[in-house]
Amino acid sequence: MKKELNGISYTDLENEIISLGIERYRAKQIFNFVHNKKIMSIDEITNIPKKTREILAENYTLNKIKIYDVFESKEDETVKFLFLLNDGNIIESVIMKYKYGYSQCVSTQVGCKMGCEFCASTKEGFIRNLSASEILDQIYCAENYLDIKVKNIVLMGSGEPLDNYSNVLNFINLVSDENGHNTSLRHITLSTCGIVDKIIELSKEDLPITLSLSLHSPFDDKRQQIMPIAKKYKINDIIEAMRYYFRKTNRRITFEYTLIDGFNNRPEDAKELRSLVKGMDVHINLIPLNPIKEFNYGFDGNKELEKFYNLLVKNGLKVTIRREMGSDISASCGQLKRRVLPKKEE
Ligand code: SAH
Repeated sequence: MKKELNGISYTDLENEIISLGIERYRAKQIFNFVHNKKIMSIDEITNIPKKTREILAENYTLNKIKIYDVFESKEDETVKFLFLLNDGNIIESVIMKYKYGYSQCVSTQVGCKMGCEFCASTKEGFIRNLSASEILDQIYCAENYLDIKVKNIVLMGSGEPLDNYSNVLNFINLVSDENGHNTSLRHITLSTCGIVDKIIELSKEDLPITLSLSLHSPFDDKRQQIMPIAKKYKINDIIEAMRYYFRKTNRRITFEYTLIDGFNNRPEDAKELRSLVKGMDVHINLIPLNPIKEFNYGFDGNKELEKFYNLLVKNGLKVTIRREMGSDISASCGQLKRRVLPKKEE
């Protein structure tokens, strides 16, 4: 099988082309066309000789994904994409516009194994990992379509990034390469449900990316009720791994905390959260629950969020409420794909 030209690191490309009889300096030209000009086929690398293009095409393919559908929010400038992969699978990704630039939430897997009760992405089960180029191409496709440059990347779409470790790491290396997209590692956030051994492995990579833990409750028994993975990894072990990450990278940790009224917003939750984060630079991101049909705790989200926010602040914690964006286009957590696909396939 041919290798993916848009999934190889700069250094590997240099080494591989030399063994194919292509001069080393061509790597820069090829990488530039693939990652900055975002070409759709190897034929378009017009700054190298035809013969070199032919050698490349004999050995590599460009794994490009396609836009399947686009939804633009009327409430804000959020844009949601459904992308079609070469094997017919569909994934989603969201672009959000903030004061400081564009931020994109990308998927790392088709479906997910983790089984969180409240999450739409996991309801179809796990289908497969995305390759590094498929993660990257979500960004290139969106940038081309909107004529923008994405500044911040969050690995928070469907899938568990640490369950697709090597492809996600290759993606991070590719997207931050100074010869390519050149995203600052500090502008990349990886969100995980807490896979301890992989958090430790990631710490050792010494990458200054932001690590975000989907905590959702400071108590193991409660967490287990909504997140099956919590049966395998206990909060104390996850926190210890997060502390290790913090010591190695000096990067502030974030906790994501989806508020489920009556379940994880009691005074004892705030107190336990405070004792969990002692001695760590942690930022808590409160998220309003986006109800799905399998997990529908309808409530006056804003009022409860604000109340719990105040309680956490009173406990000395650093907290922000994640603004809900693009709610008119179901811009979160695998919801759009579930809503749109059955209709399209009718
Ligand atoms: N698997 C990774 C990243 C994907 S989910 C993780 O677990 O962190 C990104 C974030 O959205 C997680 O914090 C997840 O718990 C949260 N989330 C998923 N479904 C949600 C919903 N219906 N409402 C609110 N937050 C949700």
